[in-house]
Amino acid sequence: MAQIIHFRDTHLLPIWEKVQRGERLTLEDGLTLFRTNDVISLGKMAHAVQRERSGDAVYFVLNQKIEPTNICVLACKFCDFATKAGRPKAYEMTIQDILGKLTPEIHEVHITGGLHPDWHWEYYLDMLRTIKRHFPNVDIKAFTAVEIDFFHKKFKLSIEEVLRQLKEAGLRTMPGGGAEVFSERVRKRLFSSKIGAKTWLDIHKIAHRLGIPTNSTILYGHIETQQERVEHLIRLREVQDETRGFLTFIPLAFQPGETGIKPTNRFTSAIDDLKMIAVSRLMLDNFPHIKAYWVMLTEEVASVALNFGADDLDGTVGGEKIAHDAGAITPMQLTKDKIIKIIRDAGKIPVERDVYYNPLNLYTSDVIGKIPYLNSLPFYHHFEKRQFKMLPVTPRRMGVLARNNQLDAGLFSLADYLSQKDTLMMLPYCIATRDQVKSVMLFSNHGWRELAGKTIGIVDDTATSVRLLQVLLEKRYGVKAEFRRMHSGVNSYDECDAVLMIGDEAMRHQKTGLQSFELVYDLASEWYQWQNLPFVFAVWAVRKSLTKEKREELSLLIQASLKKGELDLERISVAHAKRIGWSSGEAMEYLEGFNYHLGEREREAIGVFEGLLTSIEGEAEGTMDGSQHQQN
Ligand code: SF4
Repeated sequence: MAQIIHFRDTHLLPIWEKVQRGERLTLEDGLTLFRTNDVISLGKMAHAVQRERSGDAVYFVLNQKIEPTNICVLACKFCDFATKAGRPKAYEMTIQDILGKLTPEIHEVHITGGLHPDWHWEYYLDMLRTIKRHFPNVDIKAFTAVEIDFFHKKFKLSIEEVLRQLKEAGLRTMPGGGAEVFSERVRKRLFSSKIGAKTWLDIHKIAHRLGIPTNSTILYGHIETQQERVEHLIRLREVQDETRGFLTFIPLAFQPGETGIKPTNRFTSAIDDLKMIAVSRLMLDNFPHIKAYWVMLTEEVASVALNFGADDLDGTVGGEKIAHDAGAITPMQLTKDKIIKIIRDAGKIPVERDVYYNPLNLYTSDVIGKIPYLNSLPFYHHFEKRQFKMLPVTPRRMGVLARNNQLDAGLFSLADYLSQKDTLMMLPYCIATRDQVKSVMLFSNHGWRELAGKTIGIVDDTATSVRLLQVLLEKRYGVKAEFRRMHSGVNSYDECDAVLMIGDEAMRHQKTGLQSFELVYDLASEWYQWQNLPFVFAVWAVRKSLTKEKREELSLLIQASLKKGELDLERISVAHAKRIGWSSGEAMEYLEGFNYHLGEREREAIGVFEGLLTSIEGEAEGTMDGSQHQQN
């Protein structure tokens, strides 16, 4: 994040220095950001953070919004959507009505609605089960914390039981609605019968514990103060520190409609919307994504927001009603082509994603894959863009995109390079360990030989580490285990005897431990003790079909960037240690433990690993935990 910003408001400079050092922003910092008139500098700061995290990617999903009913037992003041049974605009959808709105092309269905006084619990479970049965490739994001709390009270089930049953019926993630503003003052005035901050946050924490990732929101632009906005962000950040279960944060601009809350019935200004996005990106240093929800922002503001910290444009959102009943002036749905055009016009990569933010399709060329872990930063920290765009993507997904010819180059997982040697050309750069790695860890309740026949959870990110684990189990210890793929992020590990984690997540847990797993194995140490060789986890490779000039240009860029990166390990360590809970000294020592150049011993190690791989059968893919997870 070595960007120079010429601040007109000098109050922003110390905040920018903190951001660059990876330090956390305070309430006071948040207020300074909201109060500044130097909106362009604010946007540049947020955009730099966004690029650090998401590269040039802007995500969207092909989705369908379903609001099964507008009949609601509550009457929140700001809501123009809800009504009572028997009123002219009241409606109720049958499960057949819902199925009629879905198509196999979408990846996500988003279900939220009124709190119906008469529907039975079985109806909600049936709704999810039937959708899953008819559309197995569509992931279900459903029911806000307000609805979960309503089910808990109405059907006399614990929150945990409500979520468990919904998960079993097909729920994958939860939307972030119903948070409004975490302020008792605002709650008492605008939605006094609705759950408050504590209940909302508790429900999300339980969902995360059960392996259900969730979104989060703020409803701004009504009677809340700037301080209440910043306090809201800080409370979300604290929960994210605890659970890491939030996928994204979505600022929702208040749509005044006929609510009468704002005497002038004015929408939020574009400047306020952009500030809200930018401040969120800067304050929420542990959130992977910030969404510009075009339905409420308008397409024009959402487009500018992609350079103010937002890296997600939501999706096609067919049939949205809640915001439109409150006067949203945006079209009811955006076509995929229009979304792609908005993202391209902002100079970004349109990335079609699934519900967990795995990239499925890229709609641009000249893209380089970037492994989003600390150990790869020396390659990328000084990478000059030229005509290339950067996509942070986990190793396994990078392999899938390369197989579909969607990447020109990248730091590929070794297993993916070996299986795509026909189309990829290796460059002399790699990520190789000297002995231990500290970021490819097996958390286990059993010794190696006792893992025979046991279930090992494998996070979805890994491509090479899972094969290394298989080689160690079968060839070193002579046992076979069952592998179960789990999505990246929060998971329930209750049914696993061991869990394989990689990257920054593994580093975090290396310090704090993982649930009740008592043993921790470093896979590179195991390999080193066995083979007395380094282990090569990833190699740089370019597509053979690129022109010779382009391949050479890329190779020179990587070489130049690595040269600067290796001289800059200390600054990289300082800027990134905090996000994984390590000291900068520990991060520096970690980075110094890698070799980034392919030497003779690294090439020998690749040969030995390749030989071992070909001598074992099977792909070590395992089954995915409750999700269909497409490979492309
Ligand atoms: S905001 Fe939700 S809970 Fe409140 S009245 Fe509207 S539909 Fe009901």
